Parts: sequence; structure tokens; C-alpha cells
Amino acid sequence: MVRRPGAQRIVSEVFPAPAVLGTELIGVPEGAEVRLELSLESVQEGIWVSGTVSGTAIGECGRCLDEVRLEVAAPVQGLFEYSDSRTAVEDEDSEDVFQFDGEHLELEGVVRDAVVTSLPFTPLCGPDCPGLCDQCGARLADDPDHTHEVLDPRWAALQSLTDEKES
Ligand SMILES: [Zn+2]
Ligand SMILES: [Zn+2]
Repeated sequence: MVRRPGAQRIVSEVFPAPAVLGTELIGVPEGAEVRLELSLESVQEGIWVSGTVSGTAIGECGRCLDEVRLEVAAPVQGLFEYSDSRTAVEDEDSEDVFQFDGEHLELEGVVRDAVVTSLPFTPLCGPDCPGLCDQCGARLADDPDHTHEVLDPRWAALQSLTDEKES
């Protein structure tokens, strides 16, 4: 893109994720479809990118370990600054500012940030997921009345005494 403030370009494309977009728990898997709907606007300092990234994130329920699929549609926003731009130093700490060599926009970083920010910290298969039984690991959603008779070891000792008497 040329340095002509005001010029705008619309990007609308689908591409395979170059790497996992997400966290350790949930993310859009590598190779899965990612859709970008972006507007690239030429501004004084560089290129202002805004729009949406969408895709399907796959992860594991934090309670029952079932697969969780989540449709992601995350807002993307960032400024790609010409590396010789004067404001580069001032904005150094800003999260949404990226370097731009004037030729190639490295969108992966801004897209990844957008997706990660929109993902839940702890993915759940459902808001009421009861999780797993802490005794045997069974899924409580399948068997809500699931219980175990937990014998206190002291009672167990008495029990064996009684058994002896009876025999
Ligand atoms: Zn679950
Ligand atoms: Zn159990």
C-alpha cells in the first residue's frame, strides 16, 4: 500500500490457521479455517487495521474434559506503524501497535491477540457442567445421582469386628 492517508482497502478472506490460535486449553487448531474481514486504512503513521476474525475454537472442558467447540468472532484492531514514523517511540508500550516495513502486513500477531482475548479463560462444555466424580472419575452429567458409599476407616474396623462375632 502506498502512503496515501485516507486510502482504504477491504480484506475478506479465508485461510488455514498458520499455527494454533489460542491458549493451551482452547484455540483454533492449526490448519482450521480462519475468516478475516478487515478494513485496512492508510493513516499518517501507517495502516490502521480493524475488523473481525472468526473461526471455530476447539478445546477441552475444564471440568469434565469433554471436547468444547466454540464459534469465535473477535474484533481486530491495531495500528501498523511505518518503522520510521516519529510516533513509533511514543507508542512503544501500546499493545495494539505493530511495526510495518511499508510492504508486508504481518497480521498473524494482531489476529492471534484478538482470538486469544475473546476465548474463555476456562472453557466449559456448558455453564452447568457438573464435572467428574472425584472418587471414580465418572462424568456426573451422565449419572447425576452417582454416589459412593464412603466408609470411614474407623467404622470399617468396627464393621470387621461385628462380622467376626457373627461368624
Ligand atoms: Zn464439561
Ligand atoms: Zn464416582
